Amino acid sequence: MLVTILTLFPEIFPGALSHSLLGKALGRLWDLKVVNIRDFATDKHRTVDDTPYGGGAGMVMKPDVVNNALKYALSGYSGMPEIIHMTPHGKIFNHSIAKQISANSAGMIFLCGRYEGIDQRVIDYWKLNYNMREISIGDYVLFGGEIPAMVVIEASLRFSKGVMHNENSVEDESFANGLLEYPQYTRPASWNNMAVPDVLLSGNHEDISTWRTFRSEQITQSVRPDLWETYQKSRT
Ligand code: SAM
Repeated sequence: MLVTILTLFPEIFPGALSHSLLGKALGRLWDLKVVNIRDFATDKHRTVDDTPYGGGAGMVMKPDVVNNALKYALSGYSGMPEIIHMTPHGKIFNHSIAKQISANSAGMIFLCGRYEGIDQRVIDYWKLNYNMREISIGDYVLFGGEIPAMVVIEASLRFSKGVMHNENSVEDESFANGLLEYPQYTRPASWNNMAVPDVLLSGNHEDISTWRTFRSEQITQSVRPDLWETYQKSRT
């Protein structure tokens, strides 16, 4: 699985992606190619941005430069990868989008914006002709698309076969069944005058499972009424 990042700040990578299980799988189950968008500038000053038409603050990334970088990235694939523009204008990222993205064995290309973002024409062109997706990681604005891309890569690659040592743990976590996960405890059985729920020490797997489902539903209902409503609808 090849993951290509198009960025003006290649030194940000691999960063967090080289740690833990994802890091162990890097070079074995997935490969990372980091491309500097500036390498596709065509003038001697290696210009990648210009002032916005209509005025206003900031700079806009140039369409010709971004287009050349995208074309170069795509030429590294034999199949059609997921091409993803990280932007606050995108669909809000979630569990099910992560799963969809990971199902494309051709891989992924991430376009990371900076400044005021990217000229709309190159975005429209790649959405129309190459099915480029637009993904946001939430309703706030960051300086660049690199951290959002890392979020999407990490969440998606958890679904790739072999990345998690215990494949079941992906399906046993928050959002997998539409609910938040039940609370977790470890030793000691008593800490700071607080005891672990008795049922978890009982060794009775059926009771433990019933308790976990109950707590999972209770927590979801209390902190995420939106998830709870969708979950309930899915069961009727
Ligand atoms: N002018 C844009 C706007 O108001 O919608 C914001 C541009 S932002 C400062 C620069 C880049 O950061 C964007 O092009 C995008 O790649 C990335 N970015 C910022 N916030 C993001 C978010 N919530 N999700 C995904 N990408 C984001």
